[in-house]
Amino acid sequence: MDISTYEYDVIVIGAGHAGVEAALAAARMGAKTALLTSNLDTIAKMSCNPAIGGVAKGQIVREIDALGGAMGLAIDRTAIQFRLLNRRKGPAMHGPRAQADKLAYHQEVKRICESQENLSLRQETAEELLVEEAGGRTRITGVLVRGGAIYRAPCVVVCAGTFMQGLLHFGDKTMVGGRAGEEAVVGLSRSLRQLGFVVSRFKTGTPPRLNGRTIDYSRLEIQHGDEHPVPFSFMTNEITQPQLPCWITYTNERVHEIIRQNLHRAPMFTGQIQSTGPRYCPSVEIKIVRFPDRPRHQLFLEPEGRNTLEIYVNGLSTSLPRDVQEAMIREITGLEKAEIIRYGYAIEYDYLPPDQLHLSLETKRVEGLFLAGQVNGTTGYEEAAGQGLIAGINAVLKLRGKDPLILRRDQAYIGVMIDDLVTRGVDEPYRMFTSRAEYRLRLRHDNADRRLTPLGRELGLVDDVRWNRFVQKVEAIERLRAVLEATRHGGVPVSRLLTRPEVSWEDIVSIAPSLAEFPREVVEQVVIDIKYAGYLAREEAAIEQQRRLAEKRIPDDIDYFSVPHLRAEAREKFSKIRPRDFAQAGRISGITPADLAVLALYLERRSRPDHSVSATSGELFTQVKEDEVQAGRIVDEQSALGSEISFEDIHRRELPVFDCLDDGHSD
Ligand SMILES: Cc1cc2nc3c(=O)[nH]c(=O)nc-3n(C[C@H](O)[C@H](O)[C@H](O)COP(=O)(O)OP(=O)(O)OC[C@H]3O[C@@H](n4cnc5c(N)ncnc54)[C@H](O)[C@@H]3O)c2cc1C
Repeated sequence: MDISTYEYDVIVIGAGHAGVEAALAAARMGAKTALLTSNLDTIAKMSCNPAIGGVAKGQIVREIDALGGAMGLAIDRTAIQFRLLNRRKGPAMHGPRAQADKLAYHQEVKRICESQENLSLRQETAEELLVEEAGGRTRITGVLVRGGAIYRAPCVVVCAGTFMQGLLHFGDKTMVGGRAGEEAVVGLSRSLRQLGFVVSRFKTGTPPRLNGRTIDYSRLEIQHGDEHPVPFSFMTNEITQPQLPCWITYTNERVHEIIRQNLHRAPMFTGQIQSTGPRYCPSVEIKIVRFPDRPRHQLFLEPEGRNTLEIYVNGLSTSLPRDVQEAMIREITGLEKAEIIRYGYAIEYDYLPPDQLHLSLETKRVEGLFLAGQVNGTTGYEEAAGQGLIAGINAVLKLRGKDPLILRRDQAYIGVMIDDLVTRGVDEPYRMFTSRAEYRLRLRHDNADRRLTPLGRELGLVDDVRWNRFVQKVEAIERLRAVLEATRHGGVPVSRLLTRPEVSWEDIVSIAPSLAEFPREVVEQVVIDIKYAGYLAREEAAIEQQRRLAEKRIPDDIDYFSVPHLRAEAREKFSKIRPRDFAQAGRISGITPADLAVLALYLERRSRPDHSVSATSGELFTQVKEDEVQAGRIVDEQSALGSEISFEDIHRRELPVFDCLDDGHSD
């Protein structure tokens, strides 16, 4: 029998948000890349909310863009409404968010993929991962697709989203599927299990969609986009397309009563759904049970596009049966006559607990196999895209025998996310919050290019056009700084005046009108650098301490069970996570400074021929303690600048149930 076989450097499975960034990055770096996906008409489809960005998520999009990724450009070209969230808070908390035209977004990302050199887009469903055993290690060699063809490559990135063993819940009815109207994939998670991976289940859900023709908009509050929209991409000069409004309405006691009377039919409460969902974006039935005293919950009605009347009901995620959804909708102001055109549902799916990964997103078990996106226990388009980008880059670096790209926690939200996933694992779908980042004053959306574009250029991800634009911006920042130093008012450099909280940029321009010529994005950088110089310096000192710890590398071949005096819990956790340095080791939950000191002592003995020790281990112990205190101090300061939830909450895993942080409309 003839089997069609294709040869590539990198194969990416699944063209969702993770898969497209992975494939584009690999191809941009020059690798011959295949992007295999079950349906070319669903590339980068938004399974749920028609929106990109939000607080912390918006920062990720800008980081992806700074590294040459597609998400920012695609949303700038296709969005129907832009809002910069948290404008009234400090710059660390600003989060760009845009309502997407879902179909246009998909088409734009598909076009970007089709236009990318070195990238072959193929409609194929991957059924099985092919491996070989060599030198006691398992290596990936390719993928078997439905219909029998084989794609061979030394690196494979799996980005299968919610499709692995997906099970949809509509009331007491269940249906196998990866998303409503789409098939689930069975072979891939079976193949991963056979390779020895631990596979677990998570759950998520989505609200009903309505026909806009049947909504009474005159009874709703209107919400407009920003007058001067801030683009996501550093390459976009200006957003010129007209914006559409969103609308606000509320649930009420009658809706709550309908839900309460039907809880015995809600799969979340009958035991039909067994797995954990995201606590910060609960279904409406969970909100009613958890917040019995709340008289109403806000709902945002979001258009799904320019050329459709379909409306997404943000805040009404549910898996209650159809008749209950219809009854609920009829009781909501403005929706009395609204017709549901897609019912809400929940989905349970397979994911792989991410402590099975290296920080490069390569699996520990199978060499050359990378995982990115929802399959790693995350939720959200932006989180998926950020991981995809890193997995694609690292697949190519692996091929070239180079060290992987591991973004540090002080370098990018993407770095925070991957470190959290690998080092701490997940016990619910992981979504990014600003509070997960210790150094969030530095990880702002506005400076993502200054943080990452030079790195992207080194890796071959940033083309000449983007690079020249970046260099010009940096030069303008330097020029403006020099002018501010040289310009004096009352004998004082205006840069010094600007440090005063009551002095604004407009005040400075009234002193020196020629400064008005500097572009907005240049002024923004210089003003933030000057106004927050004290905080930034404090943060820098803490970062420096972490860097010193990160320089203390831990060899990969340690048998932790033979390290004397190490506690049993530390042995188990170190063996499972295999931290690459002392900074990462210190972040593993349950690991104490004493464990680190014992490990340091052991490593030092091991490295000296006479097995003697210096004072380093004791110093390390002290340093870790100081770092903890310092990190706490910074977090305290930053919470004064505002955050959704505290860093401590996150790391104590005491996340409360939120009404719906994911709705992302707050100012
Ligand atoms: C019902 C529902 C509700 C959700 N609600 C929310 C929410 O409220 N908030 C939130 O942030 N996120 C939500 N999400 C999650 C969000 O959609 C995902 O986080 C995001 O889409 C993940 O991106 P991804 O690239 O990892 O996977 P996906 O976007 O799921 O893309 C996976 C792609 O891989 C393809 N594929 C899968 N298996 C194969 C295979 N074997 N061969 C070839 N192609 C394959 C699929 O066809 C698909 O195109 C929801 C998802 C669903 C389904």
